Amino acid sequence: MSTDVPLHRRLFGNRTLNLRRIRAIGYDMDYTLVHYRMEEWERRAYHHTRRLLARRGWPVEGLEFDPSRVIRGLTIDLELGNLVKPTRFGYVIRAAHGTRFLEFEEQRAAYTRVVVDLGDPRFVFLNTLFTLSEATLYAQLVDLLDAGSLSGVMSYSDLYRVLRATVDEAHLPGTLKEEILADPGRFLEPDPETVVALLDQRHAGKRLMLITNSDWDYARRLMAIAFDSQLPEGMAWRDLFDLIIVGADKPGFFTESRPLYRIADENQGLMRPHHGDLEPGGVYFGGDASRVEEHLGLSGDEILYVGDHLYADVHVSKAVLRWRTALILRELELEIDEIEAFRPTEEALRSLMGEKEVLERRLAQARLDRQRARHGYAPPSAPVPDDAEAQIARLQEALVALDDRIAPLARAAGEVLNPWWGPLMRSGYDKSLFARQVERYADVYTSRVSNFLYETPYAFLRAARSTLPHDPC
Ligand code: IMP
Ligand code: MG
Repeated sequence: MSTDVPLHRRLFGNRTLNLRRIRAIGYDMDYTLVHYRMEEWERRAYHHTRRLLARRGWPVEGLEFDPSRVIRGLTIDLELGNLVKPTRFGYVIRAAHGTRFLEFEEQRAAYTRVVVDLGDPRFVFLNTLFTLSEATLYAQLVDLLDAGSLSGVMSYSDLYRVLRATVDEAHLPGTLKEEILADPGRFLEPDPETVVALLDQRHAGKRLMLITNSDWDYARRLMAIAFDSQLPEGMAWRDLFDLIIVGADKPGFFTESRPLYRIADENQGLMRPHHGDLEPGGVYFGGDASRVEEHLGLSGDEILYVGDHLYADVHVSKAVLRWRTALILRELELEIDEIEAFRPTEEALRSLMGEKEVLERRLAQARLDRQRARHGYAPPSAPVPDDAEAQIARLQEALVALDDRIAPLARAAGEVLNPWWGPLMRSGYDKSLFARQVERYADVYTSRVSNFLYETPYAFLRAARSTLPHDPC
């Protein structure tokens, strides 16, 4: 890739991906081909969910959406009613009960013996930007449940079940979606380069597919708004795609065998069951990925799927079908910019940590020498001076003083991207559980679809060489 591409617009490889070998590319729609202004969208999703909860008689009128309180990649702990940030190994480094962040000791007591395992129904992973309003509301409802204000709800897990069903209801075709379509300037963040990236791929002989969970009416109106005015004269968004599948119901689309329907009347949205071959350019509802493979006559490693939902788009398509996968992660742009801006502080922190390591090593050696001198079972590494105790005390003091200088910098490092939860891809010094999932299931990841422009449809994307603790620095 040309090195003048800013870091935050690059494609990052976990595994080598030869784009020349990719014969078909499937695209997710929401937050992939079409990017929403997250705060606006989620505020409305929050509003409609809260409205539906109020209809149950819950006292939610005073609750407000605060987009800074939750980030993608956190995990809800349904047993304790907490929101937690785990490391790649599942160790919790930060936790909030409801909206209250836990003190260190409280957190340790709750999680020393717990490893967050996403296969355990106790944990719900925030896979996409669509979950931010839901998680914010969950934390606020936990506060209400603790205060005894929610009648009929027994546990934090029950609470989540009610909320989940209500969020689903808010997303049904209707008010929320109509608001989005009625005011696209407010809700959509257009990226004119996306169309060029798709045209490049199409003219390079790749077959493009739209595979979305959205319904046909919403998808066709949204795609027309987002794409038609950007396309060359005489072309409409439909012409970009060889196959369109709406109501795909991912992740089930990738794992199960499902009935397929043809949208027979595209204006009315009338459907009828479809059997036999798929027609190029046709619009279908439902079905499954093996039907798509059959239609394309391609195997999984010749198909790339591009989506923003870490589980439904990327995890299952990779794990079950071995499709090649690209994850779209818009927050990466901000995270990378902030990390770049933080670099001088990061350097200062690293240098102080280097000093700390030296002092710690000297202190440990002084302790061992004192021990050996005291018990006489082996010689100390150097003669133990008469003022050994005072020397040890001085080293300890120096370490305390150093910690005082390190603490504010370490705290600032934990506030990159989000003041409460820190960066998306890191948990403290380690990678985050989110980063681990990305590395496992996304062959490549990038902030937006148009970043494919910089790579061309012919690029050979190499995986970055991964590091190990014993690598020479
Ligand atoms: P896709 O990302 O293009 O596959 O489509 C996402 C669709 O799923 C959009 O129509 C969203 O409104 C919808 N959606 C997102 N989150 C939820 C949810 O929690 N329940 C039901 N639908 C959802
Ligand atoms: Mg999506």
